[in-house]
Amino acid sequence: MPANKSVLVLPGDGIGPEVMEQVQRVMGWFEAKEAVSFAVDEELVGGACYDAHGVSITDETMDKAMNLDAVLFGAVGGPIWDDVPREHRPEAGLLRLRKDLDLFANLRPAIVMDAMVDASTLKPEVVKGLDIMILRELTSGVYFGEPRGEQTLEDGTTRVVDTQSYTEDEIVRVLRVGFELARKRNNKLHSAEKSNVMETGAYWRKIAGRVAAEEYPDVEFEHILADNCAMQLLRDPHQFDVIVTDNLFGDILSDEAAMMTGSLGMLPSASLGAEDPVTGARRAMYEPVHGSAPDISGQGKANPLAMLLSFAMMLRYSFDLGTEADMVEKAAQNVLNEGYRTGDIMQDGCTQVTTEEMGTKLLQELDRLSA
Ligand code: NAD
Repeated sequence: MPANKSVLVLPGDGIGPEVMEQVQRVMGWFEAKEAVSFAVDEELVGGACYDAHGVSITDETMDKAMNLDAVLFGAVGGPIWDDVPREHRPEAGLLRLRKDLDLFANLRPAIVMDAMVDASTLKPEVVKGLDIMILRELTSGVYFGEPRGEQTLEDGTTRVVDTQSYTEDEIVRVLRVGFELARKRNNKLHSAEKSNVMETGAYWRKIAGRVAAEEYPDVEFEHILADNCAMQLLRDPHQFDVIVTDNLFGDILSDEAAMMTGSLGMLPSASLGAEDPVTGARRAMYEPVHGSAPDISGQGKANPLAMLLSFAMMLRYSFDLGTEADMVEKAAQNVLNEGYRTGDIMQDGCTQVTTEEMGTKLLQELDRLSA
């Protein structure tokens, strides 16, 4: 059996623990098959951590996040913590993880499984078989640039400022992740910016072109304006494989691409940090795109597939276990093909299942696939 993979499990609040429980069953399945062995450390995060320790993440947990191989994150937040001071809000724990681990590369796949083709608001012939990846720069750009905020002008009126800023290194490192991803997929990368109207866009384009020519001549590469990219995603998404873009455009384009696939309960994500120059390992965190869904928590209604598909991304990107990741993804597809659905993706003629039943169906599929 391959050496222990150390994983920090942070279930969080609301449906977070419910969907994470299904992942832990799948980890147990892999261990029972002696396929992979996980060394799991489980800690509180978000509102649950605030209730226990008065902070949304403890320094001890941060220490583990910095030192273990990967972090699996459920979801945080809920109305009962609405009055908690801003610096201790449940979301602060998530932001601290992203910031301190320097998770600059956010990977959001948009995959339309055949069984889910009708869940998209786009025509089936446009989205059928879709499998693209949006790569968003996550730790710089206009969400972090200084100066920012309101200023009072001499005439007493107000001016408000955000600053879009990127360094050469910040652009190069996320571009490299994009090219490496493309090489492992269909070898095609689009870099999206607004070079026609923004200084940062023109610089981004220059650097992207240089990295493409000097380091990745084998990858098919194209520049695209971000507004055209948004349009082309709806017109003909199959023209794309990997799209790399900045923090702001990535926020928008990844939500647009994700919603082609139907439901929030199906969307995984990965956030990667810099490569260790000696070991080649990257800090990494895997989490579903959805939140803690307080409206359905505790009722067995949560769809665990986004969390399970995030776990599959962890197998692929942190542990290089592509075969095992494929198995989890295939098992999820088969369960859907057999017509099992949680409430959020329920369709006529399908069988509605609970969170736990969905986990059980997935384990049965894994048994079948490995037989
Ligand atoms: P949400 O994603 O929690 O829920 C939006 C809607 O989608 C709800 O109707 C919910 O029931 C449904 N939904 C979400 N995930 C589902 C799943 N797996 N299965 C079935 N249905 C699902 O977003 P929200 O309602 O805007 O936010 C609720 C709380 O979650 C807030 O406190 C918010 O701050 C927090 N939040 C956390 C994260 C995170 O931890 N990464 C992300 C987004 C929102």
